[in-house]
Parts: sequence; C-alpha cells; structure tokens
Amino acid sequence: MSQEKQNFLSSGSKPIIYCDFDGTITLKDTLVHILDTFASPHWHDIELRVKSGEIGCATSLVEEFATFHGSWEEVRRSLLNHIDIDPEFLPFMSFCRDNDIEFIVLSGGFSCFIDLIFTKEGVDGVRYFSNEIFFKDNKAELNYPYFNHECGSCGHCKTSHVKLSKKGKSFPVIYIGDGTTDRCPVKQADLVFAKDSLARYCSANGIPFIPWENFADIKRYLARHFAAS
Ligand SMILES: [Mg+2]
Ligand SMILES: [Zn+2]
Repeated sequence: MSQEKQNFLSSGSKPIIYCDFDGTITLKDTLVHILDTFASPHWHDIELRVKSGEIGCATSLVEEFATFHGSWEEVRRSLLNHIDIDPEFLPFMSFCRDNDIEFIVLSGGFSCFIDLIFTKEGVDGVRYFSNEIFFKDNKAELNYPYFNHECGSCGHCKTSHVKLSKKGKSFPVIYIGDGTTDRCPVKQADLVFAKDSLARYCSANGIPFIPWENFADIKRYLARHFAAS
C-alpha cells in the first residue's frame, strides 16, 4: 500500500463507501442471468470485447440487450427465483450504520432489478445510482442517466460520483467491486476491495487493491481501521 493510502487510514476520518451491485452484493450477476435466460448466447462474444477493452459498457449493454425477448413479469419471476445476496451484506450494513460510515451503491445494472432484490432480501434505506431498463412488447429499452461524456465508455460512469466525493473533502473514498463496470472508478478511489475479474484487472494494471471474498472480510478490515471505539 502506498504512503498516501496509509496516511488516511491512520487519520481517523470517516470513509465513504461506493459499492458495485451485481456479483458484489448479489452472489450472481443479474445481467448475466437475464441475458443467459432471455437473449441470444451471442451476447458472450460481445462481453469478450468488453473484457479485452475493445468496447465500453455503454455500447456493449445495448448490443447485448438487442436480442432480448421477454416481459418484465418473466424477468421479475426469474430474478426472484435465482438471485440472492451475500449473507454477510446485511450485517455489513448494520456495521456501517453503527459506525456512521456512508454507503452508496453504484450499479452498471438496472434500478428495477436492485429494487426487486433489495425488497426480497429486506435491505432498506440504501442509496443507489444505476442505469434504467424498460420493458415493452417483449423488448428492453435502456437508459443511462449517469452517462459521462468525459469518459464516453461506461453506461453509468461510476467515476463521476467518486470524483465528486473527493472534491474538497478529506475523507477517504473506498470502492468495492468485482467486474468490468468497476474498472473506471477504481483508478480514482483511495482504497479498493476487488475480487474476480476486477482483481485480475487491478493486478494487470498496477492498481493497488485488497482481495475479498465476502462482506465479512471487508467488515473485519474496516473495523480495524475505521470503527468507532
Ligand atoms: Mg459487478
Ligand atoms: Zn467511466
């Protein structure tokens, strides 16, 4: 860990946590599940182009959902049957509240998926920013309310939120994630928790990170450095 990062850890200031949703809070990625169930398997070829850095998520999501066929009712039922969250997530939320640590979800997925899963799992009062999806005539239409022209690659550029938080503030910005939609913001965060393909991306690009498996790992780490005494 760099000197700069060690300094804020010992500074005692409260961090703000930004956290991915799919594959991070959920055990399975909702987009992967929905595309596997309702779209042409060709979507995997498009995803390979994202992983190689050839195209960004803004382009890939539209291309991947172009072959989607289904209704919101079918999607809703499928998500409820197949998507669960990390069992350590709710205890982690309690830990953040008890220690006055701000926690915000930044998702490259869709708001109605997040609402559905949070309601199912009894997750209440967690702020989030995400893309939007609308279902009509068995097709899906996407909307990117947080597209950032400066970035131009992400559908939801999570970096904008991280940069805004850092402006004129002294508290450290923590980022938690697992995949391609997290590549942009981890370059700006003060402390990164990465797993799966995000961990490989960070290693390959010299971005310092702490590996994690579930939210109990992150809770343990933060308890050592930030928890109220
Ligand atoms: Mg993810
Ligand atoms: Zn971006």
